[in-house]
Amino acid sequence: HYHVDHATPENVLAAVAEKKTHPVIPEYRALDEYVSDGGYEELERLRTSGDWEDVQAKVAEGGLRGLGGAGFPSNRKWGFVRANPGPRYLAVNGDEGEPGTFKDRYFLERDPHLFLEGMLIAGWAVEAQTCFIYMRDEYPAVLHILAKEIEALEAAGIVQPGYIELRRGAGAYICGEESAMIESIEGKRGIPRHRPPYVAQIGVFDRPTLVHNVESLYWVAQIVRYGPQVLNSVEKNGRQGLRSYSVSGRVKNPGVHLLPAGSTILDIVEAAGGMLDGHVLKAYQPGGPSSGLLPASLDDVPLDFDTLQPHGSFIGSAAVVVLSDQDSCRDAALNMLRFFEDESCGQCTPCRVGCEKAVKLMEADTWDRDLLEELSSAMVDASICGLGQAAPNAIRLTMKHFSDEV
Ligand code: SF4
Repeated sequence: HYHVDHATPENVLAAVAEKKTHPVIPEYRALDEYVSDGGYEELERLRTSGDWEDVQAKVAEGGLRGLGGAGFPSNRKWGFVRANPGPRYLAVNGDEGEPGTFKDRYFLERDPHLFLEGMLIAGWAVEAQTCFIYMRDEYPAVLHILAKEIEALEAAGIVQPGYIELRRGAGAYICGEESAMIESIEGKRGIPRHRPPYVAQIGVFDRPTLVHNVESLYWVAQIVRYGPQVLNSVEKNGRQGLRSYSVSGRVKNPGVHLLPAGSTILDIVEAAGGMLDGHVLKAYQPGGPSSGLLPASLDDVPLDFDTLQPHGSFIGSAAVVVLSDQDSCRDAALNMLRFFEDESCGQCTPCRVGCEKAVKLMEADTWDRDLLEELSSAMVDASICGLGQAAPNAIRLTMKHFSDEV
C-alpha cells in the first residue's frame, strides 16, 4: 500500500512506472481532520439526548430516497425496521456494480467519515446491533480506507470494536440486489430471496434489517448536520433535491456531477463539459443498463425518480452513459443483454434462459421483434428479481426508438 496525492491518470501511471502495486490510495479526509471540522458531534448529541423520530422527520423533510436504484423513501424504511422487535441489523449496500455507476466510490474515496457518521446515525435510529458494510472487492482503495478508518473509530472510542463489520463482495453483480447481498453476508451463495417477507422483517440472520446505499447514508449525515434544506432547497423543473449523476461516454469531462434532481440530459452533458469534439448526442442510458437507452429527442425530461416511468425507463442509480452519432444503439443494447446473461444468478428460468435467448435473437442480422416482445413480457412478468424484470428495458426501448438499427 502506498499513497499518492490524487488518483489522477498521471499519478496512477507514475505509480505504475515505479512498479508500485495496487491499490492507489487517494487523498481523503481522515478521522482527525473530520473530527476537527465538527464531525461526530451530531452522533454524540443524538446518542446522549436524541429522539430518533426527530431525525426521521428531518430525513423525510429533506426528501431523501434510496440512492442505490430503488428510490424508496429512507425515513419510511426506518419506521418499518423499528416496527419489528430487535435485535436488528443495518446492512450497507456498497456493491456498486451497476455499469456506469461510480458515485459511491467517489464519496468514499474523498470523505469516508461523512458516510460512516451517517451509517452510525441510521444504526442508532433503528438500534442496530451490528452494522455490516458490504463493499465490492473491485474497490481496493475504498476497502483499505474503510478498514483503516473503522480501526481509527474503534481506537477513538466512537464505536465498540466489532460494531462495524466490513464484508468483501466477490464480484457478482447480483449481490447488489439487497436480499442476495444479505445471503452473501450470511456466507451463502448470493441469490435473491422471494419477497415477502421483506428484509425490514427478516433480513440478515433472519433479523429485521435496515438496508441503505452508501450515498443515502452520506446524505443522512449532511441532513442531520446542516438540516433538510441541504437537499430540499434545490428546485429545478418542478423537482426537488440533488442527484449525483455518474456520467461517462462521449463527454469531455466524465465523472460524478452533483446537479439538481430536475436536470435533463442536456444539463448533464453541459455539466460534463459538453460532447466530445466531432460527436453529436444520439442516445443515453439514464440509470445503468437496467434502464435501457433513450433517444436524444427526449431531452426535456428531468432525470429523476418517477419521471422516466412514462417512457419505459427509470433513473436507477443515475449512471448516465452518453452515446453519440458514432455509436450503435443496437450494439449497446446487445452489450447490455450480454452483461445480464453473464450476471443472471440462474435461480429462475425466465431470466436465466430469457437473457440467453435474447442475446441469440439480438445477434441476428434482423431482430425478430414479435418474439423479442413475447420474451420480454415473460421476463418482466415471471422473473424473481429486478435483474430479469428490468433486462427487457434495453430490448424494448431499442426497438421503439432505434428501429432502423434492428
Ligand atoms: Fe436470479 Fe435473474 Fe431470477 Fe433475479 S431474475 S433471481 S438474477 S435468475
